[in-house]
Amino acid sequence: MKKETIYENLRKNGVSRRDFMKMCGLLVGAMGLKVAPPIQASNLPRHLHKPAYKPAQLVARALETKPRLPVIWLEFQDCAGCSEALTRSQSPTLVDLVLNTLSIEYHETLTAAAGFQTEENKQKIMQEYHGQYVLVVEGSIPTGPNAAYCTIGGKSAEQLLLEAAEGALAIISTGNCAAFGGLPAASPNPTGAKSVMEVLPGKTVINIPGCPAIPEATTGTIAHILVFGGPPELDELNRPKPFYGQAIHDRCLRRPFYEAGKFANSFDDEGARAGWCLFKLGCKGPTTYNACASIKWSNGLSFPIQSGHPCIGCSEPNFWDGGGFYQGQSAPLQRPTLAAAGAAAAVGIVAGVGVAAMNNAQKKQAHKTEEAES
Ligand code: SF4
Repeated sequence: MKKETIYENLRKNGVSRRDFMKMCGLLVGAMGLKVAPPIQASNLPRHLHKPAYKPAQLVARALETKPRLPVIWLEFQDCAGCSEALTRSQSPTLVDLVLNTLSIEYHETLTAAAGFQTEENKQKIMQEYHGQYVLVVEGSIPTGPNAAYCTIGGKSAEQLLLEAAEGALAIISTGNCAAFGGLPAASPNPTGAKSVMEVLPGKTVINIPGCPAIPEATTGTIAHILVFGGPPELDELNRPKPFYGQAIHDRCLRRPFYEAGKFANSFDDEGARAGWCLFKLGCKGPTTYNACASIKWSNGLSFPIQSGHPCIGCSEPNFWDGGGFYQGQSAPLQRPTLAAAGAAAAVGIVAGVGVAAMNNAQKKQAHKTEEAES
């Protein structure tokens, strides 16, 4: 039997053709697609110059011909912040498209039903849509003793991930915990927390890191998979380039102050009040790749640097142990590669341990000096 297309589903639910085309335009923006430059054939009159293609039409064609794309969203060791951010997205139409139309068939926090029926429904979706559903993972995976630190429906997080990944069309790690281990994997990592790509070494995992991930980056990537059958171009850490192609520093509204050498030295000094650069307060913007400065949060209202806090580098590996909250001048960080990220996790995040050890040593020394002086 022919499956209902996304367009048919939208029309059935009262979406007009005009609203549908608006939604396609929104998706183009969300996916970070650019309109191709017009053909500049000098022998053509100007009114016949046409774009090489129109992305909104491309998206419309895909939604008119493709059936719904089921999404299974698993949550493991997380705070549900990425899900929470999704429900507060600045693009309600886009989120509605992803939540209701694509659609999320299983989500431990958002699904209204609970218990065995929900687990049964997930199994049914995985069988019926084998090779055709998108798996989104939020949270790290505990692999400590018996993998027993996180179990759902009688199965460990590791079991559930392996089971769901087997028939997935694409696997997305949303948030730093799923992408790079995040806070649960920070030293001393008592649960043996691992990232999704560490648990699934043979699979391509699309990473949408952040704490939380920017919802439009997650939904935009899902939409790209729907329209083009795969993710946008990825960087060396498997992050979609339309959202992670630029450092926060590149788009930061405080950048002119950086260039002018005007820095806040404390959170309440004159420079901080005047909106000067937060580099000397530990800002990681120059080495952090994410779209915070352009997409922002809460309906595009603000992002941490705009609100007065330095970037903590939450879309990079090892941000917790790497001194994200250290309020001193940022050391120039090397941009890690995927292999380096895995290696860092495997060896216990050496750099972070080093920073922590250095801080501890400094504290101990200060304590000894105080004792000696008293
Ligand atoms: S606040 Fe951070 S990201 Fe913004 S200009 Fe200063 S160092 Fe760069």
